[in-house]
Order: sequence, then C-alpha cells, then structure tokens
Amino acid sequence: MGPEKNEERIPLLERGEEYVHRLEEKAGSSISACYQCERCTNACPVSHFMDIKPHHVIRYVQLGWQEKLMASSTIWVCLSCEMCSTYCPNQVAVAQVMIRLRNEAAKSGIRPQERILAAFHKTFLNELKRFGRVNEVWLMASLNLRPEVAVEKIRTGSWKYDLDAAVTLWRRGRLKLLPHRCRDMEEIREISRIKGEQE
Ligand code: SF4
Ligand code: SF4
Repeated sequence: MGPEKNEERIPLLERGEEYVHRLEEKAGSSISACYQCERCTNACPVSHFMDIKPHHVIRYVQLGWQEKLMASSTIWVCLSCEMCSTYCPNQVAVAQVMIRLRNEAAKSGIRPQERILAAFHKTFLNELKRFGRVNEVWLMASLNLRPEVAVEKIRTGSWKYDLDAAVTLWRRGRLKLLPHRCRDMEEIREISRIKGEQE
C-alpha cells in the first residue's frame, strides 16, 4: 500500500522534517537519503504480510505521516532480520527505523493493528527485563495469560497447536521449567534504557 492518489500532499519541509531528524537520531542513519529504489522491500522476507511496504515506511517518515505508521501492521510484522538495511544502497537503517516505530507505537497507547504480535513484543521485553534472558515456558505462560491473547487462542483453537508443540519440546528435553536469571541484570536494564524499549 503506497500513498493514496487523492491524499493531500504536504511538502516534506512543512511536516516531516522534525520527524525525520528525530528518527534519524534514534536510528543512527540517514533517512533523507532514501530515493525509493525498493531494494529494501524486495529483500524483505515478510513484505507480503505488511500493509505498508518497507520503502513506503521510509517515505511516510519523510512525509511525517506518523499516525499512519503507528496504526500499521508492518511495524509488528517486521522480524528485525536486517535484510532491508543490508541491501540498501544508501545505508538507510530501515530495520532500526522499524524498531523505533514499534517502540513509539507501544508507548503511544494506540490500539495495535496486530494485537497478538504487539502482546508478544511486550511480553518478550518484560521477560528479558525480569531475567536478562528468555525462558520459553515463562514467556508462553505470561503471553497466554494476557486476556487479548487468551480470548483469541480459544476463539481460533490455536491453543491446541501450542500444547502439541510444548509436549513435543518437553519430550525432547528442550523445555526448562525454571528460569535462570542473568548475572549482570543491571547491564541488561542499561541496554534496555539506551535502546528506549518500553515497559
Ligand atoms: S533500499 Fe534504501 S534507498 Fe532503496 S527504498 Fe529502501 S531505504 Fe530507500
Ligand atoms: S528487518 Fe523487518 S522490514 Fe527489514 S527485511 Fe527484516 S522483516 Fe523486513
């Protein structure tokens, strides 16, 4: 999905400049340098699940279309695999932009379009802050206890697949019941603070 034809076009310098500079600072790379070659989108393994393709995300940032980005599925679907950044001929840190947008959306209180993925993102970060590493049993228990996730899993019946996977992993000795706390928790919290991850 790209910018719609009849949508009001507001010049970059009137609306997007401040937003671009803020995100450029956070992402640590130029966003203005993007010339819409689409290599990032072509390299992205999950672009077909996104409502705004990676090259359009960069364009939207340039235009200052923050609300549309916050409400998109793209920021939650992104895997942070860095393929887009690797293939960009202008060193635009597309993957970092995605992370910053996702964090902004999580803090904004805007209802995420991908509620389950957003819940997973929050739960994952919370577990990381608690233990400094992720224990699969505790992660899945915390995730499935979230009301929005529990309701969805019961509605779709997907809890059965989770259960099957858990039993298989358990039989193969791949699940550890008790989480182990990382030794240097303060360092983990510091990294989290520097990266501006949400609670
Ligand atoms: S690959 Fe880089 S220059 Fe090309 S569209 Fe993506 S961000 Fe822009
Ligand atoms: S980091 Fe995100 S946007 Fe970039 S290629 Fe990977 S999944 Fe696609």
